[in-house]
Amino acid sequence: MKKNIDIKSLVTKEVASLTPYSPDIVDVPIKIDAMEMPYLLSESLRGKVTDALNKAEINRYPDPDIRKVKEGLSALTGITTDRMIVGNGSDELIQLIFTACGGGGGKVLFPAPTFGMYKIIAVPLKMSAIAVPLKDDWSLDEGAFIEAIKKERPAITILANPNNPTGNYFGEETIRRILDTAEGVVVVDEAYYNFSKKTSLNLIDEYPNLIVLRTLSKIGMAGLRVGFMLGSKELMAEIGKIRLPYNINLLSQIAAEVILDNMAEVDRNVDKVIESRERLFKSMQSIPNITPYPSETNFILFRTEKEAGAIHRGLIEKGILIRNLSDNNKLKNCLRVTVGTEGENEAFIEALSGLV
Ligand code: PMP
Repeated sequence: MKKNIDIKSLVTKEVASLTPYSPDIVDVPIKIDAMEMPYLLSESLRGKVTDALNKAEINRYPDPDIRKVKEGLSALTGITTDRMIVGNGSDELIQLIFTACGGGGGKVLFPAPTFGMYKIIAVPLKMSAIAVPLKDDWSLDEGAFIEAIKKERPAITILANPNNPTGNYFGEETIRRILDTAEGVVVVDEAYYNFSKKTSLNLIDEYPNLIVLRTLSKIGMAGLRVGFMLGSKELMAEIGKIRLPYNINLLSQIAAEVILDNMAEVDRNVDKVIESRERLFKSMQSIPNITPYPSETNFILFRTEKEAGAIHRGLIEKGILIRNLSDNNKLKNCLRVTVGTEGENEAFIEALSGLV
């Protein structure tokens, strides 16, 4: 007979209380829900990746220092390799920062709504998550945010900039005032940097408590799981102590190395997405009964007058998957569409027009 155990009693109460981060898993022809790059790399670049992978010595552990990838990232950012940590996606780096700087009861402060993983990573570490509501136009309530930093003195302040899921950018002056106030670590998560072209990286020399987080996921390499963070050498050395030794597998290291050497193609794809975003936004503006919000990312948030769940389901029936964010109070009847290929965007506009 099977032993009778209350499984929830086996995990901590924090873990038991969590709702998992669950991307929709639906097989549809048009998948524009997860901020992926819609274009596969060219056959010739994929050929270079395959040739390099062919020589991979998978009987050996990968380079624990991820040196070649770091050199590529250094060429890309102008930041030396001793001021970066590479992670298995930026998700892993968020977990690393939270564990190193705030685990065991520290506070983490962020605007809301924002990227859901901040809370999911904080809770099992027994950190208290403090969410400061954004204004109704999604701008940061700077007064309230600065006051909260002064009052709560968080170990970590984290902002996605541009923000997910709202798509807007909080200005550099705001980031500077946050850095002037915060005594703990300030993380500026620039997952969508390539689409906004705006950054706080220029501030890392001035503020040794600033970490800028980036990822290769949104620019065509989501499957590789490579993210990186940049900051002061001393802070990177401290946080780097808890990185698992072989966190980037050999195949991802090799593929990323090759692609980082061929960034012109990646940049062209990014430019195409930015152009398509502008066209998609205009088309959405001309659809009655929805309000799209301006975006500096590769996605567009919009609010519907009809119940968003029904529209989400209606789109799936037509073979199109986007993200329904309605379960968050502030995002009632909000949906988020990722910019796809021109054909995908047109199909989405046509299907959406028939549902709203
Ligand atoms: N930060 C933000 C703001 C994001 O939206 C995402 C992806 N949804 C991530 C980090 C994680 O990206 P990855 O782990 O793929 O690098």
